[in-house]
Amino acid sequence: LAKESGRSNYKFFANDSLHDSQPLLLESELCSAIANGEIQVYFQPKMASSGDQVYGVEALCRWVHPTHGIIPPGQFIPLAEKNGDIIALDKKMIELVFAEMNKEAFRDLHVAVNISTQQFYNNRFLSFIRKQMELYPEVDVTKLEIEITEETAIQDVEGAAHTIMELKKLGIRIALDDFGKGFNSLNYLKQLPVDTLKIDRAFIANLPEDFQDQAIVSSIVTLAKKLQLSIVAEGVESQEQLTWVQNLECDYAQGYMFSKPLQVSEFLTYLNTFNAI
Ligand code: C2E
Ligand code: CA
Ligand code: CA
Ligand code: CA
Repeated sequence: LAKESGRSNYKFFANDSLHDSQPLLLESELCSAIANGEIQVYFQPKMASSGDQVYGVEALCRWVHPTHGIIPPGQFIPLAEKNGDIIALDKKMIELVFAEMNKEAFRDLHVAVNISTQQFYNNRFLSFIRKQMELYPEVDVTKLEIEITEETAIQDVEGAAHTIMELKKLGIRIALDDFGKGFNSLNYLKQLPVDTLKIDRAFIANLPEDFQDQAIVSSIVTLAKKLQLSIVAEGVESQEQLTWVQNLECDYAQGYMFSKPLQVSEFLTYLNTFNAI
């Protein structure tokens, strides 16, 4: 059922260039959805690449819509980026993440959160983060990582580097997400003082068979190691892929092989099962 409503919902969005009145309705809906608590945080486990330990999570948003069901971010984030609602959405996610990190069960976990380009250049972003740190003095922000993409750097690479330095002064780590997907990856790597590289899952998907992807992934890992960055392999779906990234000594692995993104309560169950093994 959820799948079906998701699909009809997708059509609804896909039509938006044809009918102007519908997206307006949805835009106003997203705004109130954020205020009404319909935006929820899901957690996908991030494993030590040995595969036997949960290192942390990536926070991913879901719109739990009263009639359409669970709407994945791909269906509303592009719209939110267009109309500016992404600022409120990302802030909401950060608030939810701090609230979870404040709980006992999360004290040892590293949490990564995605931040859109617009947010990164918002002057109030740094003061918003500082405010969360004051609200939750117990939260260890050295376990918080903010994920940005190359897209964030395209606009103003010096500005992005400045924001990164300010966040690092607070103890927060920065990851470059979807690495290798863009056209200027190496250039940004040189200019942005990031801590972590997340290898885009497009390069993992055809391992171990694809000879070109093998060369690309092993080169990225070699490069990242020379630059003393942490490395996350995204989209690990099979044991063969995991073995491959283990042999390269990637630090962390994330993907459906371990778990899809889970509701907080489901994630805690997953964590307990894991600890029990
Ligand atoms: P992303 O940051 O690259 O997140 C990883 C996406 O890959 C997630 O999709 C996740 O569910 C999916 N994934 C994880 N493991 C596997 C796997 O093994 N195989 C496959 N095929 N997919 C896997 P999701 O949750 O639909 O998120 C899509 C994108 O939406 C994210 O891509 C991110 O760019 C954006 N996004 C999600 N939450 C937020 C948010 O709170 N703020 C912002 N600004 N963007 C967000
Ligand atoms: Ca991400
Ligand atoms: Ca990614
Ligand atoms: Ca992405």
